[in-house]
Amino acid sequence: MSYVDEIYLQVEKKDSHEPEFLQAVKEVLESLRPVIEANEDKYRAEGLLERMVEPERIVMFRVPWVDDNGKVQVNRGYRIQFNSAIGPYKGGLRFHPSVNLSILKFLAFEQTFKNSLSGLPIGGGKGGSDFDPKFKSDREVMAFCQSFMTELYKHIGANCDVPAGDIGVGAREIGYLYGQYKRITGLYEGVLTGKGLTYGGSLARKEATGYGLVYILDEMLKAAGKNIEDARVVISGSGNVAIYAAEKAMQMGAKVITLSDSNGYIYDENGINLDIVKEIKEVRRGRIKEYTAFSDTAKYVEGCKNIWQVPCDIALPCATQNEIDRESALKLIENGCYAVAEGANMPAELGAVDVFLESKILYMPSKAANAGGVSVSALEMSQNSERLSWSFEKVDEELKNIMSNIYRKTSEAAVKYGHEGNFVVGANIAGFEKVAEAMLAQGIC
Ligand code: NDP
Repeated sequence: MSYVDEIYLQVEKKDSHEPEFLQAVKEVLESLRPVIEANEDKYRAEGLLERMVEPERIVMFRVPWVDDNGKVQVNRGYRIQFNSAIGPYKGGLRFHPSVNLSILKFLAFEQTFKNSLSGLPIGGGKGGSDFDPKFKSDREVMAFCQSFMTELYKHIGANCDVPAGDIGVGAREIGYLYGQYKRITGLYEGVLTGKGLTYGGSLARKEATGYGLVYILDEMLKAAGKNIEDARVVISGSGNVAIYAAEKAMQMGAKVITLSDSNGYIYDENGINLDIVKEIKEVRRGRIKEYTAFSDTAKYVEGCKNIWQVPCDIALPCATQNEIDRESALKLIENGCYAVAEGANMPAELGAVDVFLESKILYMPSKAANAGGVSVSALEMSQNSERLSWSFEKVDEELKNIMSNIYRKTSEAAVKYGHEGNFVVGANIAGFEKVAEAMLAQGIC
């Protein structure tokens, strides 16, 4: 049996109750086949894959807090420190009721290769809680964050593990978490990224994932002789990634015709007005359906799945994992969509990925496409170490260069291993090679 198949079977047996983690391992191992087969004896002798699919450490803890009615609430907190071969663990915190070990393990596993692909010296981690910040008062969110950090601080630090935001964790949550870390440890250090600009945050971090997504999309389109200008773009989600992907796509001349949240989506064939969306989502923390009150031409459709039925040239899934199934992928292609770039992590089910690859549309997987966020987080770490703040233009320029390098490395790796144009194979191999080399050099640990 091949080494890849052997390892997948082991993971399937050991972690059979973790579907998202199994999905991510399958996707990564399948696309690594060419490089693993070429080095099978060496990797087997060193137990490389066995070590790569096992997190270095998982911390799970109780998070008790008191709500506005004086009732004690208990959530579950996690930090997965997956792989530190190339640098301190780095990866976001997700606060969402769906959070469980399987989802965080898939995210931390993927993060390891994404961080490697970014070219920056950061390992892979992820964490979070099943706490839902939606419809909670600021006071409740603060109580939760303080309790969460009262355990988490023992396991993180500017040189060992630096969390950031993700779904449900934005500037407000990072602020409360940072305040509590500082209060307990007495340290003013870059232990979190995505911080506010008055206390060590980086300009352009808020925009980084969405802007980076559109920068790499632009590279991919140009290499294929296409252009983003005048393209009709379907975007899902209306959070941090979706809003800034929409902003950059519009700045580059595209027309963004949808946005969504977990209840439904808005559609306007004339293009969406982002100032209104920012007011609803960023200022008032409202729901996307409120948009129709400000527009005569926009429609609101209840439910998210049918967003992929909207005819478009380019699709940018920016909400959550597994939001595109095989049927939705087929519909996108049937309606003429020629490019998909993933802002969310693993938004396409394996069947949908197969459709994108078989139909030979331009398809950039999340590992490469959304690496702009963590890259600017790493630049925030550099600025914190230097005690300096770079200008927006400098950070944005660095981000552009990083995304351009990721595109180059991804497409070159795909060509080198005989899969030209397959950016899934390219991104996985390019991310894997550096981590593998570092792990082999550091011995069995
Ligand atoms: P936000 O919390 O800011 O926004 C998430 C958006 O997705 C909201 O519109 C939310 O709607 C929607 N959403 C969340 N869960 C679901 C669901 N189960 N079904 C349908 N819609 C859902 O998160 P981000 O924008 O930060 O993250 C979005 C994606 O991008 C995630 O996959 C994340 O891992 C990934 N990512 C984020 C990075 C970052 O820098 N923030 C970096 C790299 C990747 P609702 O309000 O109704 O929940």
